[in-house]
Amino acid sequence: METSGPWTRASAAAGLLVDGVARPTVFARTSALAARLGAANLGQGFPDTQPPAVVADAAVAAIRSGHNQYPPGAGTPELRESIAAHQARWYGLHWDPDSEVLVSTGATEALAATILALVEPGDEVITLEPFYDQYAAMIALAGGVHRTVPIASRQSPGGDLVLDVDPEQLRAAFSERTRLVLVNSPHNPTGVMLGAGVLQTIVEQAVAHDAIIVTDEVYEHLTYGPAHLPIATLPGAQERTVSISSAGKTLSVTGWKIGWITAREELITAITGTKQWLTYASGAPLQGAVAAGLGMEPDAFREIAADLRERRDLLTSGLRSIGFRVSVPDAGYFVVADAAGLGEDDAAALCERLPEEAGVVAIPLSAFYRNGEVGEARSYLRLAFCKDRPTIESALERLETWARG
Ligand code: PMP
Ligand code: GLN
Repeated sequence: METSGPWTRASAAAGLLVDGVARPTVFARTSALAARLGAANLGQGFPDTQPPAVVADAAVAAIRSGHNQYPPGAGTPELRESIAAHQARWYGLHWDPDSEVLVSTGATEALAATILALVEPGDEVITLEPFYDQYAAMIALAGGVHRTVPIASRQSPGGDLVLDVDPEQLRAAFSERTRLVLVNSPHNPTGVMLGAGVLQTIVEQAVAHDAIIVTDEVYEHLTYGPAHLPIATLPGAQERTVSISSAGKTLSVTGWKIGWITAREELITAITGTKQWLTYASGAPLQGAVAAGLGMEPDAFREIAADLRERRDLLTSGLRSIGFRVSVPDAGYFVVADAAGLGEDDAAALCERLPEEAGVVAIPLSAFYRNGEVGEARSYLRLAFCKDRPTIESALERLETWARG
């Protein structure tokens, strides 16, 4: 029986097949391994913490009071209004909740629907590299051509890793074939936040080449220094930008899969044309709860970030004292750590051995490169600090014992 189809071909094009079969994502594989071995899971980015009480209580109440059938495909009016109010309150961006906001099944569906709606075979899509793994698979499924701009690393005077983007390389990636530029700031896996200068370069190039900007901002509230700067706020950007976010990270509900898009009506209409055939609608009782969460006072968001920042510092200082060279991210869930100083040049091989040898799961940075072509980042790992303190402390103790042995 022939079981391959367009998704298999897309996975093949994105380098995601093993022996002709779609292999589970790096997150599925590593979380299963962590569960089987009882290892400390610093792999997949999901928090051990619970959502704010107001959010959890609203979801339970919604189920009990009967919000259990299909909601409107575009999202409930309450959630769309809350998303529009959130964009206005935090960023001064104004969107019409009826025609310029679309609720999705996580940022994942928003990204899929956007790319499938807007990319024709042969169109070029620019992303940073490393990149969140779904991007390559979706670009391939649409028949697009994936072009990347590297996030390069250097060493700070203090010995830490510093990761950033060269605006010249970004400029050079654009051509008359560019259809989309897919921005991810704050960035997974590196935690890099693109500054105003780099974002302005992207807007200028997008305008010059009549390209659409897609921005994945799921880590928008998890920032530890400068605040998040949405690209849609830059002059000339809002008209051509599809902004995507999700409740998963902001409200510690990654299992709920409620995301959203804000964009001008003609873009929302085009994307809805795809989205309605993917899932049609998303989690009815969860939408009001997310609306309640987005309406929380700013301090409630800052407390979540401040708590994560402490865990970031716990993990970075622990890794440094074990002998890793670390990056201290400005945002997000992840630390990039270089194992070369411990005599480990191949992080992919190391991450295969670490669960058994040390009882710790991490993800090699190569998982976020096309076909694992990782260059200078060959000895780099991604470790999640969105875990609870005992998990991080136990992972550090285990790594220390492993490094000494
Ligand atoms: N984009 C990025 C950069 C991510 O890290 C993730 C995973 N959390 C997603 C999109 C997917 O988000 P969701 O779980 O809302 O589908
Ligand atoms: N965004 C999460 C991460 O990068 C995982 C999402 C997923 O499992 N698809 O770890």
